[in-house]
Amino acid sequence: MSENILEVNNLKKYFPITKGKEKGLSVKAVDDISFSIKRGETLALVGESGSGKSTTAYNVIGMYSATAGQIIFKDEPISNNIKERPLRLRKEIQMVFQDPGTTLNPRRIVKDILSLPLKIHKLVDKKDPVGQIVRLLEEVELPMEYLFKTPLALGGGERQMLAVARALSTNPDLIVLDEPTSALDVSIQAKIINMLLRLQKDYDLSYLFITLDLSLVRNFATRVAIMYLGKIAEIAPTEIFFSDPEHPYTKMLLSAIPVISEKEEEVKHAKVTPKGEIPSPVNVPKGCSFNTRCPLAFDRCFVEDPVMKEVASDHQVRCHLVEERRQS
Ligand code: SF4
Repeated sequence: MSENILEVNNLKKYFPITKGKEKGLSVKAVDDISFSIKRGETLALVGESGSGKSTTAYNVIGMYSATAGQIIFKDEPISNNIKERPLRLRKEIQMVFQDPGTTLNPRRIVKDILSLPLKIHKLVDKKDPVGQIVRLLEEVELPMEYLFKTPLALGGGERQMLAVARALSTNPDLIVLDEPTSALDVSIQAKIINMLLRLQKDYDLSYLFITLDLSLVRNFATRVAIMYLGKIAEIAPTEIFFSDPEHPYTKMLLSAIPVISEKEEEVKHAKVTPKGEIPSPVNVPKGCSFNTRCPLAFDRCFVEDPVMKEVASDHQVRCHLVEERRQS
């Protein structure tokens, strides 16, 4: 048995443009990315809006059919179309969406929302069906009085806790978390992150955590992957990612995180100021896609697209400068 629960190999997702001036071209939302998630770990996939991180998540759960590439789950190649996946796989890979309001039926009560996946996957505890739902609520720190409330009667954080309970109900191995706390207050964010950490330990869960907030990643993720314009720029264990990043884009993002303590100020990275605008994913620049904003770009960056290179154990970077520096 491989140590990886999930392997994504050379994944591409292009959206063809069918109207307007750019008809015939494609939005290269995800463009040849590879990564893996080990059993029991959290991989944070971080990037600005439009970087392709959510498209990657939707491919992993099978909501989008990939243009190319392979997804391997628990050593088995799986279809990237959810309709072609056996029910067993849908049970084992669950997702928590950014806005639970769009995925929880506002007319159903909590008891029915949590019963539905149990019925679909034939997991109902026939001896104690209500007790089974109450135990799920307890796991996400919601009171049993909520059994007969609808999602509309719950606060934003409580709705997200309910969405986590629903994901947990099928006893999954992997949960994709698509910016699960981005719409919530900081205090509720912390509560949900702590809850997810506890559940990960108790249920031996693996997480793919999609976020644009690097400050959440430090205490939550095992490894971090940075995406830019559909490609992964750098993947590293979390500690190395924050202490010794290599890619100019990673350094730019880290230098923009606000610091709240003197200790953090001491290890804060020197400010890296990007130039230029983020290019359109329809017209990705030739060479390195970051060359229009990179303050360190040189001739080679405008003609040749860098490839991912391992710079240390578990640490990979896509940058000509890093590669040449290491060779010299
Ligand atoms: Fe910057 Fe060149 Fe490295 Fe791209 S390859 S990140 S443009 S130095």
